[in-house]
Amino acid sequence: KDTCGNKGIVEECCCDYESVNDINGAVLHPLLQELVKTPFFRYYKVKLWCDCLFWPDDGMCRMRDCSVCECPENEFPESFKKPSLHTLPNDDPVCQEGKPEATVDRTLDARSFRGWVEVDNPWTHDDETDNGEMTYVNLQLNTERHTGYTGPSARRIWDAIYSENCPKYAYGETCPEKKVLFKLISGLHSSISSHIAADYLLDETNNKWGPNLKLMRDRVLKHRDRVENLYFTFLFVLRAVTKAAAYLDQAEYDSGNHMEDLRAQLLIRQLVHNSKLQDACALPFNEAELWQGQGGPVLRQQIQNQFRNISALMDCVGCEKCRLWGKLQVLGLGTSLQILFSVDDQGNPDPHLQLQRNEVIALVNLLNRLSESLIYVTKMRDQIAINPLAK
Ligand code: FAD
Repeated sequence: KDTCGNKGIVEECCCDYESVNDINGAVLHPLLQELVKTPFFRYYKVKLWCDCLFWPDDGMCRMRDCSVCECPENEFPESFKKPSLHTLPNDDPVCQEGKPEATVDRTLDARSFRGWVEVDNPWTHDDETDNGEMTYVNLQLNTERHTGYTGPSARRIWDAIYSENCPKYAYGETCPEKKVLFKLISGLHSSISSHIAADYLLDETNNKWGPNLKLMRDRVLKHRDRVENLYFTFLFVLRAVTKAAAYLDQAEYDSGNHMEDLRAQLLIRQLVHNSKLQDACALPFNEAELWQGQGGPVLRQQIQNQFRNISALMDCVGCEKCRLWGKLQVLGLGTSLQILFSVDDQGNPDPHLQLQRNEVIALVNLLNRLSESLIYVTKMRDQIAINPLAK
């Protein structure tokens, strides 16, 4: 007898991919692009330094395009600042890296968490309530793109993720829960590769950036399963966002800039209540049917531990900017897991669901990254005339 339950996830994504592309292109992508620019969603607090649990420091990445530009405090939204803080004259949101203005006061003002709980996400390794070591980053100034981070250090992370923490399930595997983790990580990996391919340093001497079609073809488009997993991950996160609609609708989006905060609230409402989202795809899986079998609780704990290990591995990423986006996106996935796997057996969301401000920022930014990746995949697929999803 199957102890983990054999329903709950479709073998292959049952979506009409073109419908997903249409809705993403026409509705979601423009909406998300606006949302992530609002002050509430563009500042992210994160512990950036390496503290790798698994192997000794293999040398931090010193490459130019790897470093993260932290926010000088004069750039923070008002309500993030300590009340007594004097602002610096320059309020241009430009990278102040290396300049004295970039010195960051790492103590965060409790007021910025007004209306938001301080809870630790059980799916991630980082202690999200411990913010003394964290710093603010303006995500708009630190785009996810090609950094040159490659070779054994990067390979070791992906190897550790796939070989120890989310092995590709064998053909014929019937346990849906075991497939979810692999699909999510593989989808995220495809998304990271798509961003590298879309914004690649083509000519170092002349600092020329642009799309790298060959990289997109070799790492993503040639592999049907990687593209399918990207869609799966996108739909998974989207489903989490819509499932948490009631919570997200009522949350407090306070950055101190009243007009911008109202806009963020409005955009969030449009995002979570857009009925077209529900119709985009037959369910990629049905979370209410997962973990129901005899071995459900044990399996859930096992998968949660694996995901926590993956999250801890982000501290071993040797390139600061890759680590920033790795941590943010893994927290976004952990938040999606938290939302979707807190449902009751009727599929109703947990009425006591509580999310942290940082989790919501990660969730929305992750969804935006995935939505961008669908755009890149579709565009480059047409440019090189290769469509792995064509029937
Ligand atoms: P990799 O992408 O390293 O892949 C390693 C192996 O994993 C492949 O050989 C293949 O067997 C398997 N694989 C690849 N894709 C998938 C998939 N979708 N599903 C399942 N299996 C797959 N580099 C940047 O330039 N910018 C970044 O922002 C960036 N962020 C990163 C974030 C993290 C968390 C990590 C670990 C790395 C990041 N990197 C980034 C490095 C980048 O992901 C690659 O590791 C690097 O470019 C070397 O690529 P590669 O060709 O060796 O293949």
